[in-house]
Amino acid sequence: MAKIGFIGLGNMGLPMAGNLVKAGHEVKGFDIVPVNLEGGVKRGLAKTASVGEASKDVDCIVTMLPAGSHVIEVWGGDLLKSARAGTLVIDCSTIDIESARRAHELAAAAKMLSLDAPVSGGTVGAEAGTLALMVGGDKAAFDRGKPILEGVGKRIVHCGDPGAGQAAKICNNMMLAVAMLGACEGFNLADKLGLSRQALFDVVSASSGQSWAVTTYCPVPGIVPTSPANNDYKPGFAAGLMLKDLKLAQEAARSTGAATPLGAEAAQLFQLFVSAGNAGQDFSGIIKYLRGAAN
Ligand code: NAD
Repeated sequence: MAKIGFIGLGNMGLPMAGNLVKAGHEVKGFDIVPVNLEGGVKRGLAKTASVGEASKDVDCIVTMLPAGSHVIEVWGGDLLKSARAGTLVIDCSTIDIESARRAHELAAAAKMLSLDAPVSGGTVGAEAGTLALMVGGDKAAFDRGKPILEGVGKRIVHCGDPGAGQAAKICNNMMLAVAMLGACEGFNLADKLGLSRQALFDVVSASSGQSWAVTTYCPVPGIVPTSPANNDYKPGFAAGLMLKDLKLAQEAARSTGAATPLGAEAAQLFQLFVSAGNAGQDFSGIIKYLRGAAN
């Protein structure tokens, strides 16, 4: 079992760190928000007073922070200065690919092993330990990190070189946003045509229009009991986070010259939805916004 420093005990980081404790690891935690730090203590983490203290004398450090600037600030600051050479540093945040690659460079210069390992599955998956992890970094780092990541997730895929995990994450979420918008438009059109939602679901779920957005996360209530539509569109996966990922995908598309016209349209629609005060709604709640936009 490993000694782990965990930095960033927010909505995702706290349950993930708790699951590492349950998996038998010795975990010390740090967060700049005192109440989050106390939450860590309740889940069996040792409390530390700084990034430096959390990073000292451990085999592995995990960061789960809001955005690329936070990761660069933390890795480029006391984390890499305090860790001993050879420590494995894993960033599980969803960040831009450029910052992810920069973080790997900083780690290599400090003689550490590093992985980018963004996650999918939301807070429910984080609590249950069933996240999917998309991992970038060299094989030696992956082989060391996999047994640790198995404590927080059930599917761990080595996607390739440094940054490949973030690349997989933003491609996946751009595809999800486009699929969800398609599902929303289909159900809204069915309403106007007088076609029952259940009939459309029964057909689509066994036909070529099938998608995860329809069968697992159906955006209309009354069909898939566990979908946020049945819980007044409480997240789930918040629209504000989807917008963040769509912006990262557009940034990547611009810098590589990839054509993503539907990704661009999805980013604009989610921007409008979020600007209308819906950042905290589940992203599937955009179905109501699209319905309203047509009236
Ligand atoms: P969050 O804001 O709840 O947690 C981030 C934590 O980092 C906060 O507790 C904050 O205090 C802490 N923090 C910020 N700067 C710090 C510093 N310098 N030192 C120590 N702690 C610091 O966010 P979250 O929902 O847990 O998401 C974390 C990451 O995971 C994001 O990149 C997000 O996009 C990604 N993600 C979130 C979800 C989700 O459903 N919430 C799903 C998949 C991926």
